[in-house]
Amino acid sequence: MERNIVVGVSAARRDFDRSGFIREYVNEHYSDSITRGGGVPIILPITDDESMVSKYIDMIDYLVLSGGQDISPKLYNEEFLPEVEVPDLKRDSFDMLLIKYAIKKKIPILGICRGMQIINVYFGGTLYQDLRYNENIFLKHIQGLDSPSTPVHKIKLQKGSFLGDNFGDELWVNSYHHQGIKELGEGLIISACSNDGLIEGIENKDGSFILGVQWHPEMMFSAGGNVEMEKLFKKLLKK
Ligand code: MN
Repeated sequence: MERNIVVGVSAARRDFDRSGFIREYVNEHYSDSITRGGGVPIILPITDDESMVSKYIDMIDYLVLSGGQDISPKLYNEEFLPEVEVPDLKRDSFDMLLIKYAIKKKIPILGICRGMQIINVYFGGTLYQDLRYNENIFLKHIQGLDSPSTPVHKIKLQKGSFLGDNFGDELWVNSYHHQGIKELGEGLIISACSNDGLIEGIENKDGSFILGVQWHPEMMFSAGGNVEMEKLFKKLLKK
């Protein structure tokens, strides 16, 4: 019998209509891509109970850190700059705990957008609080109202990395971020870079598998049927 690959996706949360009811959720692109990629998706609700996080990780075979709002700059020891969004400290510490226990229990991790950024911060790296503080940026990294599956820039892939070994020299990707990695965390490698020099993919050197991507493969696969991103999910869920 084929084994189920249970994929836990970290929840985002928001009081959408300011009614006092906080909803925990993921965009359906995640569950759709995971399902079509061969996994069984479940949403992991936000908690500050460390023993609960440990139980979550015991239940899953794969961790996906979903996208969302900016991480608190305090986590990388920077004061807040004007462009940074209001952070959700509870979500930040939940995501950090998920990473800690996934590494401890050798559960592979895919971090998407904010998910990639918090992996970098977990390993001691820093972020540009807004891309205007990186003077080399000239490409459109916030694609705004374009279809979520429309690719807007290319990334160059590093040979010898998971991305480079599976997808060749370059990929077209979508882009929904106003922040980016500044200093790379300890023990990580750059596996993808945009043509204006921004880090768009990271992996770890040793230990259990970790991949962080700055773009949204789940939107490109789910909303656009992108074949490369379909391949990405199918490859990953075999890890
Ligand atoms: Mn980008």
